[in-house]
Amino acid sequence: MAMAMAMAVPITLLFAIVLAGGVVSSAEFSYIEYNTTQRIVPGKINVHLVPHSHDDVGWLKTVDQYYFGGNNSIRGACVQNVLDSVISALLEDKNRKFIYVEMAFFQRWWRQQSNAKKIKVKELVNSGQLEFINGGMCMHDEATPHYIDMIDQTTLGHKYIKDEFDQIPRVGWQIDPFGHSAVQAYLLGAELGFDSLFFARIDYQDRAKRLEEKTLEVVWQGSKSLGSSSQIFTGIFPRHYDPPDGFTFEINDVSPPIQDDVLLFDYNVQERVNDFVAAALAQTNVTRTNHIMWAMGTDFRYQYANSWFRQMDKFIHYVNQDGRVNALYSTPSIYTDAKYAANEQWPLKTDDFFPYADKPNAYWTGYFTSRPAFKGYVRVLSAYYLAARQLEFFKGKSTSGPNTDALADALAIAQHHDAVSGTQRQHVAADYALRLSIGYKEAEKVVASSLAFLAESRSSTGEGNSVTSFQQCPLLNISFCPPSEAALSNGKNLVVIIYNSLGWKREETIRIPVSTERVIVKDSEGKEIESQLLPISSSTARIGRHYVKAYLGRNPSETAKYSVAFSVSVPPLGFSTYVVATTKEKEGPGSTISTVHTYEASENNTIEVGQGSLKLLYSADEGKLTRYVNTKKSVTAFAEQSYGYYSGNDGTDKDPQASGAYVFRPNGTFCIKSENQTRLTVVRGPLLDEVHQQLNSWISQVTRVYKEKEHAEVEFSIGPIPVIDGIGKEIITQITTTMKTNKTFYTDSNGRDFIKRIRDFRKDWELQVNQPIAGNYYPINLGIYLQDNSTELSVLVDRSVGGSSLADGQIELMLHRRLIHDDIRGVGEVLNETVCVPEGCDGLTIIGKFYLRIDRIGEGAKWRRTVGQEIYSPLLLAFSEQDGNDWMSSHISTFSGIDPSYSLPNNVAIITLQEMENGKVLLRLAHLYETGEDKDYSMMANVELKKLFPNKKIKEVTEMSLSANQGRDEMEKRRLAWKVKGSSAGEESKVVRGGPLDPSKLLVELAPMEIRTFLIVVDHIQMLGG
Ligand SMILES: [Zn+2]
Repeated sequence: MAMAMAMAVPITLLFAIVLAGGVVSSAEFSYIEYNTTQRIVPGKINVHLVPHSHDDVGWLKTVDQYYFGGNNSIRGACVQNVLDSVISALLEDKNRKFIYVEMAFFQRWWRQQSNAKKIKVKELVNSGQLEFINGGMCMHDEATPHYIDMIDQTTLGHKYIKDEFDQIPRVGWQIDPFGHSAVQAYLLGAELGFDSLFFARIDYQDRAKRLEEKTLEVVWQGSKSLGSSSQIFTGIFPRHYDPPDGFTFEINDVSPPIQDDVLLFDYNVQERVNDFVAAALAQTNVTRTNHIMWAMGTDFRYQYANSWFRQMDKFIHYVNQDGRVNALYSTPSIYTDAKYAANEQWPLKTDDFFPYADKPNAYWTGYFTSRPAFKGYVRVLSAYYLAARQLEFFKGKSTSGPNTDALADALAIAQHHDAVSGTQRQHVAADYALRLSIGYKEAEKVVASSLAFLAESRSSTGEGNSVTSFQQCPLLNISFCPPSEAALSNGKNLVVIIYNSLGWKREETIRIPVSTERVIVKDSEGKEIESQLLPISSSTARIGRHYVKAYLGRNPSETAKYSVAFSVSVPPLGFSTYVVATTKEKEGPGSTISTVHTYEASENNTIEVGQGSLKLLYSADEGKLTRYVNTKKSVTAFAEQSYGYYSGNDGTDKDPQASGAYVFRPNGTFCIKSENQTRLTVVRGPLLDEVHQQLNSWISQVTRVYKEKEHAEVEFSIGPIPVIDGIGKEIITQITTTMKTNKTFYTDSNGRDFIKRIRDFRKDWELQVNQPIAGNYYPINLGIYLQDNSTELSVLVDRSVGGSSLADGQIELMLHRRLIHDDIRGVGEVLNETVCVPEGCDGLTIIGKFYLRIDRIGEGAKWRRTVGQEIYSPLLLAFSEQDGNDWMSSHISTFSGIDPSYSLPNNVAIITLQEMENGKVLLRLAHLYETGEDKDYSMMANVELKKLFPNKKIKEVTEMSLSANQGRDEMEKRRLAWKVKGSSAGEESKVVRGGPLDPSKLLVELAPMEIRTFLIVVDHIQMLGG
């Protein structure tokens, strides 16, 4: 085609081309075969061109819309086009390469391909032309996911890559997340066996310094406990994850393509080669070694892949002819190997890259809290998924019928950096929630049938269908639980099965709504146990009715007036059964009805709350908490708690930066004073006391002090946040003490290691403080704590939130946000969540909890870690009805999946117990403490595998990498030993790890912060009655 045209070109035009191009000496055109074979050339500057497409697993469009190209009026993006055209382009030239990252998209594409196409693609993968990197289902966020979810979503993607392609990804590619966590580096990096990690977004001040000092590439040790044994080579891009200016080649991009046809106008080969060399030299000036990487692509690019590859073919050809630098098709793996081969010493990085600011007034710390209801939903289902897999395993995974796969998939996608982060459009948020709810519905069946199977095992042989039906109450947080109310109103008994997914026995007080006040609670032996009736407050009932209508589309027939509370004891990985019945006349008095007293502001006295060793003291006069006392631990402290809000900046001052879904930019702080004359309502009873506070028409809270617990539980209800005044609001709570904390506080990394934070300070550079509030916010998934020389104040959370310590002795959490301006970071929609019923829509109300405790110095970790794990994994409740009194005689009332004499130590959690489809069992054990964190628990822990699998014979145990896609041994053998600048082997305190598993003893050692993953083959002895 080109030749035919050349012959038809009139002679006069050729002169014009010669003039325009200026360098063309001949008017002859012949076919140019571009030489793209170039590999690394030692001694030269090597420009590694890495073709990639950044495909968000949902953002402005849903994951499926992005895949098939739906809703293109929002954004012309179609991942199907990307994969179709990339594969053709790779097949055209075997030197071309491409990396693919998001398995959620790749799976969608793969299942639609013919066998013939699949064979070709597998060849591309085997030859290294197409390389999977990162390899999770999505590129997860790093601030708001829990580490267990990060592991699960990565495992799912890696398993897919292993099963389909027999490949093991080598490189972490977290190019877009808005700040980077320590857990990402060591756990979701080094512990996966990754050789390197790459990303783009770090604080603009940090980047400026690193550019100057050539420290964009570092060796990152994310864990103090695991140190150099879990380090990873990390590369930060000089600017962003796109190519240098002038080298983007999507169809509508404006970069000048190379025009090398002498018969056409605008011949520009030399000019473009000069541009390329200049850009390469600029990057070389900020990079160590003579290897630089260009990320050739950005969001949803390569929809017509040839437009990129055609240009890269030409650049490689002409730049290498020019010879000043060496250009080649590459991947991050090839680049990593080149960096390693350079034998350089790299600067050391510790801690993390939070918070992230891209401009002086743009701290991306708002998303730590954005969409708190969705964040809470993700967290609840994360724990549910963990428990459901255990129960699925105890019953035996069925090959047909319901399973946990849909929930696994939905949870994986929900970890994306525009999902749980809360930075997607509203319709996309709804799509994630819908997927989660579909997954939950199926997993709920798994849980119900497994519990029925386990409860009936005594009478059946495990064959046939279980007859017991169990219901669960996902809306228990708004006191909506039809089975618990119905049973009693129908004169039947309510059977409550309580499952504990942790490896240790738990004693807790649970609450369930009931329809009558004549209630008696019996344990599995039929003995009456103490119980307490608590009135359901009118505000809780109102919210309950509203949200039942919004979620289920119907009015609850009747709302319960009481909750019954009782203490339960549940064995490790097992359940207990309790029966709630209506009291008969001849029986005992039944449940104790709580006393309720409302204190008027005029009552000038101190109110003491708490039946056990924890006492909270309130001032009736001021209507607020004043002191925290733990009589058992001899702790007494001044403590206050208050609410306030920041008004979201609307971006109308000199800097047009508004507060939005990503960015937190406050414009003034406002206290929220109680508007009511009547301030405190105190509910008392034998098991717990409650303090009800209605702060204003849209904030209320209930503080609970349980007799057996030494912490306070605060349940808050916030919303609808009023914005009728035209001001967006970001709601916070502050806990204030007199502790002298010297600007220092500690926040967790994805629910795992705690990192020391110092107000207005960064370890890596001299911080210029522009945003004294937003710039001191950090993500919190587990908790935040303060210390002075005598005391520790700890707060644990039930979902990810943003928080800080903006004044000594004070902890602040951001609990909800409603904003009316976009923060110009791409989502293009305001973060204004509403909930609708037929009568209309209003701002979203959220209900959540945080937990508070004050300890003597050195004693806080035990609570944070052990109770923190209990908060992550709440007891799972299932309900059934019973006609007579024969439940206990016809059912197994207590069960433990592990040896009844055994319990895991309090510093170890089973974070995965799952039957894989090949019958193997995936087991992950996590040490919950860091080195030096607690005098008793920061020790090597032991787990006896034989006792975890009673009645089963363990035939084979293989220790695996964290994502279970390779043996741990092979992974360690392949690990690259990076050199760290200025560190000698002696400097680091010795890193401790558990020893290899003895195949006869089967005793697993876990060192502080260690997570160990095993694939286990067990024989199929019937678990129960076998
Ligand atoms: Zn993205």
